[in-house]
Amino acid sequence: MSRVFNFNPGPAALPLPALERAREELLDYRGSGMSIMEHSHRGKDYEAVHNEAISLLREQLSISDDYHVLFLQGGASMQFAMVPMNLLTAGKSADYVLTGAWSEKALSEAKPMAALYSAAVRAAGTTGTGEGKEKSYVRAATEADVKADDAAVYLHLCSNETVHGVQFAVNGEFPHFGKAPVVADMSSDFLWRKIDVSRFGMIYAGAQKNVGPSGVTVVVVRKDLVDAGRKDLPKIFQYRTHVENNSLYNTPSTFGIYIVRNVLLWVKDQGGLAGIEKINREKAWLLYKTIDSHPGFYRCPVDAGSRSVMNVVFRLPSEALEEKFVSESKKAGLVGLKGHRSVGGIRASIYNATGLDAIHALTHFMNEFAKANG
Ligand code: PMP
Repeated sequence: MSRVFNFNPGPAALPLPALERAREELLDYRGSGMSIMEHSHRGKDYEAVHNEAISLLREQLSISDDYHVLFLQGGASMQFAMVPMNLLTAGKSADYVLTGAWSEKALSEAKPMAALYSAAVRAAGTTGTGEGKEKSYVRAATEADVKADDAAVYLHLCSNETVHGVQFAVNGEFPHFGKAPVVADMSSDFLWRKIDVSRFGMIYAGAQKNVGPSGVTVVVVRKDLVDAGRKDLPKIFQYRTHVENNSLYNTPSTFGIYIVRNVLLWVKDQGGLAGIEKINREKAWLLYKTIDSHPGFYRCPVDAGSRSVMNVVFRLPSEALEEKFVSESKKAGLVGLKGHRSVGGIRASIYNATGLDAIHALTHFMNEFAKANG
């Protein structure tokens, strides 16, 4: 078996022990004579897996009883719609902080709901400069960038912009943006370290970066926000429905949640999030150091304090060299380094399961590539 060094942005690398456990249990889950995929989602075997995944997540992030933990479907993209759908009401408004492509998308998806409800959504602050193709984001927002409305029903931000490689609170706490509950899209930096969940009204994340396979969306939501949610929606779109049914209102992504459980067991084995954070910081430090040590060749456009620990973006002197970098790196067993099509360049996504060995292989390749082409 040969496994590549996987820098995919999501779906992304999964921890090998989580996959090996799945392989071992695939055909016969704990002597039941069938795989976990073939079990009823209402049966004891699956329910134990489901509840273990929830309790492991609660344990790793020290999530208090003030919050519900849900496993939904539809990706983070569905949360772009479900958040305003549940929380906006006529005459009210919600704030959005824009720091890259995904927070922009969240705002644009909220607009039709606001229009339908005679409510409002607004950009409370942006770090974007330029327009159209020239639009760029190179830093997260500070308190000075955001004019928050304390009466807003929520303030939305994206903690890590996967496309632009811009992350909030890399070396410290999240900024305080007024009094409204903060709703955070943490799709690409959920579970990379311990965070203070009590700073947030709600956190959501597509699982396919740090937590598991695609098809599962993790939602951590404060009880008062669930209670305040609209009741005039189809049940499937109300958070309370999923809370009341422990995410088993309809058939969940049972195999996806099973893999999430395996990933969380692996996190625990790594010394929990403290252990994971230490390795993640070393990985990012090594990569940015390599970029900065070739100043005429590699260039990271992101401001020092906002450089993502999860998605390291950089440019080479020309697009032709970037293409060559991607194709030669692939031949060297380094996969998934092409930047997002909307911004170009190179992007190394280095989520939890991408180990130090992958980083050493990449930095070695980068040094050699610069020597040969610089
Ligand atoms: N938000 C962020 C920060 C993302 O990185 C992504 C996916 N790359 C999304 C939202 C959309 O997620 P999904 O494809 O699960 O809907």
